[in-house]
Amino acid sequence: MNRIYLDHAATTPTDPRVIEVMLPYFNQTFANPSSIHNLGQQAEKAVETARASLAAMISCKPDEILFTSCGSESDNLALRGSALAAREHQGANQILISPVEHDAIHNTATQLQDLFGFDVKFLPTDEFGRVNPKDVSSRINENTAVISIIHASNEIGTINPITEIGSMCQEREVSFHSDAVQSAAHYPLDVQSLNVDMLSIGAHKFYGPKGIGALYVRRGSKIFPSQTGGSQEFGLRAGTENVPYIIGMVEALRLTRNEHKERYDRLNNLRNHIIDRILESIPDTLLTGHPRERLPNHASFAFKDVDANTLIMFLDMEGYACSSGSACKTGKPEPSATLIQLGLPSNWAMGSLRVTLGKDTTPEEIDSFLSLLPKVVDKVRNLEKMAI
Ligand SMILES: *Cc1c(COP(=O)(O)O)cnc(C)c1O
Repeated sequence: MNRIYLDHAATTPTDPRVIEVMLPYFNQTFANPSSIHNLGQQAEKAVETARASLAAMISCKPDEILFTSCGSESDNLALRGSALAAREHQGANQILISPVEHDAIHNTATQLQDLFGFDVKFLPTDEFGRVNPKDVSSRINENTAVISIIHASNEIGTINPITEIGSMCQEREVSFHSDAVQSAAHYPLDVQSLNVDMLSIGAHKFYGPKGIGALYVRRGSKIFPSQTGGSQEFGLRAGTENVPYIIGMVEALRLTRNEHKERYDRLNNLRNHIIDRILESIPDTLLTGHPRERLPNHASFAFKDVDANTLIMFLDMEGYACSSGSACKTGKPEPSATLIQLGLPSNWAMGSLRVTLGKDTTPEEIDSFLSLLPKVVDKVRNLEKMAI
């Protein structure tokens, strides 16, 4: 069967050009970058060249880049590391996050609350999941340890006004982290204009390999390591560097940025077409997330009285790989926590569908998907009526 992949927010295929540049680092320049011998120095040089080139891309210094194992690890290090440091140095105890964070932030905050006694507060959002910078400003106090707000939501695609929020945080001298794991695939991120102290990215969302990520940490930020051991990554992240994956991630980001404009415009047009067609062809359908301020490849919907898991399974049987947008994979159907937060009734929040396009998605694939979807939604709705 010809399978059509419409789940690029979950992961992307590794670009063959990226695999190509990685290969020599598995068995030629393979030595441990911490080794003193010449082979070790060659590997170290490759890592440091990659670090400098990533730093130049996002407008920071090389020693402000930490390589990690994934976007989740970057989020963990940023939130836990800076929360614990802020408490140690200032006695600050409050963590502010948005209600639409990825689990890597949400569940880290929950753990910091449950096991470490931090006070986690959720910022309000509008109906599209956007945080208002004024609400951040009004909630910061002398007890605020760190603020973390997702740049672009993986579930509903909404973009947050990170630059404005960041400038509020700078004024009040509170450490500010943003999870940019989704947005790095679509915007040429610049940590100076975003006004962030920390920024997470993960390679497999922008056609790099899985299992590698990076965290930007502004010089002077107080942060404790969450993985202790050797002195790699400036003592903030122990473990022998994953040289081939570091090389691959930086190449993938370079390609993403070089090809940014053409990818963006093409995806944005294709995505707008999907939104228009689905809203007009399927009754009782809502667009979730922001209508304009959203990732260019991201369309997400809620269908009234549809079970998302059944819908996704039926689409899969027809050869289309989509997602409900929330992490629920198995077990009993649950409405999306994010959509409930945004005020949707549960018979709508149960029926979420996320369609995320990639750089190689074709208009033909989208047309065939768009002609199929109304029938499948109808089928699932009829099944549900029969079950009642
Ligand atoms: C995928 C994703 C992550 C986790 O990244 P991994 O590299 O898979 O650990 C974190 N945040 C967002 C917004 C994501 O989309």
